[in-house]
Amino acid sequence: MTKSEELFKRACEVIPGGVNSPVRAFGSVGQTPRMIASAHGAYMTDEDGNRYLDFVGSWGPMILGHDYPAVREAVISACADGLSFGAATRREVEMAELICGSIPNIDMVRMVNSGTEAVMSAIRAARGFTGRDKIIKFMGCYHGHSDALLVQAGSGVMTAGIPDSAGVPQGCTKDTLSAVYNDLASVEQLFDAFPEEIAAVIVEPVGANMGVVPPAEGFLEGLRALCTKYGAVLIFDEVITGFRLGFSGAQGFFGVDADLVTYGKIIGAGMPVGAYGGKREIMECVAPRGPVYQAGTLSGNPVAMAAGLAQLTVLKEHPEIYDELNKKGQWFFGSIRQIARECGAPVQVNTCGSLGCIFFTAEPVHDYESAKTSDTKKYAEYFRYMLSHGIYLAPAQFEAMFLSAAHTREELAGVLELIRAYV
Ligand SMILES: *Cc1c(COP(=O)(O)O)cnc(C)c1O
Repeated sequence: MTKSEELFKRACEVIPGGVNSPVRAFGSVGQTPRMIASAHGAYMTDEDGNRYLDFVGSWGPMILGHDYPAVREAVISACADGLSFGAATRREVEMAELICGSIPNIDMVRMVNSGTEAVMSAIRAARGFTGRDKIIKFMGCYHGHSDALLVQAGSGVMTAGIPDSAGVPQGCTKDTLSAVYNDLASVEQLFDAFPEEIAAVIVEPVGANMGVVPPAEGFLEGLRALCTKYGAVLIFDEVITGFRLGFSGAQGFFGVDADLVTYGKIIGAGMPVGAYGGKREIMECVAPRGPVYQAGTLSGNPVAMAAGLAQLTVLKEHPEIYDELNKKGQWFFGSIRQIARECGAPVQVNTCGSLGCIFFTAEPVHDYESAKTSDTKKYAEYFRYMLSHGIYLAPAQFEAMFLSAAHTREELAGVLELIRAYV
């Protein structure tokens, strides 16, 4: 038995499914998880000493690569001052100023501890601001595990959502309406049916939790126009795209302004951080300034802020990192598409910036229904092949591949050769 197997066996006795977040269990790829001992740059090493070129990057935060020196040093230095005070601190002011000073339509921001919390709080703020209850989300978009967002579409577009998890009461999802990603008509239909009841539309500006599904031309602009027309709050869930597509995230990349934006992942550089922010008149509804309650014992934690500030400062001061990362993504994912075409493989490669995904289907993927046509057994085989060659991919089909500044073109060229040999 390997050390990873032995540890996982122990984990299964004392942690549900052996993991603290389901996808880590490797369930859909028919493997036991590798227990990761350390990571530096683009590589992770497991407890057995196997080294992997990592395309998960902690699900996004590691945009500069693992163990980035400026981040590590900032954390060590912050630790020396004490881990948490439960009081206001300088670093959280600097973090808020950095974000509000760099992203044009973020006037105010509140720090929280995860993406889930950021989304849950942004929705509460939107509801408090509008005095309305209903929200629209898109099938295949993931917004964390809060009750109202663990929802499946009802039988018709107009019917209330049904819980997508045991333990979520029907009442928690009754105000969550589901629309089809990249289909403005499905959103218009909901606004037609409930013109004065919709508080917010929440969307991943690039779908990155059903594989990768970029927005069709005009989709985000159309959502902007509908929200403005009906007085609803447009929320971009930028937990993945924020500080990844560029410093100003999807808003800057696509030139569409949301009213509220949620952040996570990159903003904490690997520490548990989330944030929501946006227009002043909405954010001023949040307590203690306004009537929308939201709080957190460890929110704005000084060590977490130090990590995030260090990473965001590097990203802000070096915009060329984004140019290179996005060019690298275009070349790498474009090359995979080219290889698949040459081999006549029924494979779709979707990409946006440094995010990409391979679907094993002949059908173009533009929403959740088409994403689901991918042959997940083929993905599992591909995953196992890559893992056995030292490449660590997301252990599930409906996830993104994350490139970081630490992946070199030489390393990526090696991965392309492996893919060519496989397809
Ligand atoms: C990861 C993710 C979340 C949830 O963030 P957690 O930190 O896991 O709670 C929310 N929205 C999107 C788009 C995400 O990718």
